[in-house]
Amino acid sequence: MEMPAELEEALSTLRKGKADIETRLKEIARIGKDPKGGITRLAYSLEENEAFEYVKEVGLSYGLVAKEDPLGNLYLELPGETNGSIILGSHLDTVPRGGMFDGTVGVVCSLEIAKALLQVRLKQKLVVAAFRAEESARFKISLIGSSIATGQLDPSMLEAKDSKGIRLKEAIKSCGFHPDRLKDAKLCLDRIKAYLEYHIEQGPVLEAYKYPVGVVTAIAGPIRYELILKGEWAHSGTTPMDMRKDALVTAAEIVLSVKDICTGRSSVVGTVGDLKVPGGSINKVPGETVLYLEVRSVEEDERREVVQKILKIAEEKAKRNGVHLNIRKIQERPAIKLHSEMIKVLEFACDSMGIEYLLMPSGASHDAVNFRKVGIPTGMLFCQSKKGISHSPDEFSELDHIMAGAEALLVATYALSRGQRYV
Ligand SMILES: [Zn+2]
Repeated sequence: MEMPAELEEALSTLRKGKADIETRLKEIARIGKDPKGGITRLAYSLEENEAFEYVKEVGLSYGLVAKEDPLGNLYLELPGETNGSIILGSHLDTVPRGGMFDGTVGVVCSLEIAKALLQVRLKQKLVVAAFRAEESARFKISLIGSSIATGQLDPSMLEAKDSKGIRLKEAIKSCGFHPDRLKDAKLCLDRIKAYLEYHIEQGPVLEAYKYPVGVVTAIAGPIRYELILKGEWAHSGTTPMDMRKDALVTAAEIVLSVKDICTGRSSVVGTVGDLKVPGGSINKVPGETVLYLEVRSVEEDERREVVQKILKIAEEKAKRNGVHLNIRKIQERPAIKLHSEMIKVLEFACDSMGIEYLLMPSGASHDAVNFRKVGIPTGMLFCQSKKGISHSPDEFSELDHIMAGAEALLVATYALSRGQRYV
């Protein structure tokens, strides 16, 4: 079957909007522009509010119907023939001094896709969703808005504080919303036929293998541990090398083991991203060291195996060095497999547009996780990130790559709504 004329037309409208996509990205990048460089548009800040206001105005100017939930998530809707909906979502907040593409690319492109589909009678309602507070930078909790939308935010989390002592619920209120109406913010999940998210890769893989876009197969789950090593504080001048119980040396050996165990495996990454010597000094043999270990994988079994290996070796090293080791698990999130039908429809969309894509896992977490967790058919599409840099003012994606993904997402949306493939 050939590509339907109405889809050809929608694609042509989307392509004509290329300059608009660039303009929107640049205009949103001005909101929260940090004098030290980059963009600081934190979760539930006035800057985030302003970006939401901007997106809402654009959506309204396109003729979409704007709805806001009581906690500030924004939905811009294109009515369909049935009660069902297809959601295209992402976020608008940033980390401190972050980049202009993370999250925003998804929202801006989804808006243009809705605009391009204005003249098409879709079966389902098309919803462009902008979720609040995706980044964990402010409240140490990630994916807040989409957790709210899918009914997965534990009310106790509203008590979480930022570094200034401001509680999440207070921040929500000061943005003009209602933290006490958490239940009213939950979407009717059984009406959602699909959730698709378009995002920058935030890693170097697509650029390295020269693909403009990637179809995400799974999202890695992190498991995090705190390891406290207690040896013996001693005088660095008077304590012979063979009589020391050096906690930091033991930690260093563990850090290298993490690297050795994880290197060469295709689906596991392990990192010690933080290490402290509380009370350390240049003239002391370190008696205590705390290190933070994170292992991520899309394969739960492999993650478990790797973690067991690392912890066993950590115990052996501690024992050999006469150091006491205390292990505490901080967090464990399951790996998420994305929906096979959504993967297929995104592959089909890329194929039918002649866009080369890579099937790949995501090491970073995204709002899509929350939709998949409640059983909604969920898919994700990545576009290439220059040098893999993200959460930085240097974050960059080529407009042509952004457009390739946007076109594929439009085709996928259309194919989902029609329930048919036409090649
Ligand atoms: Zn993001």
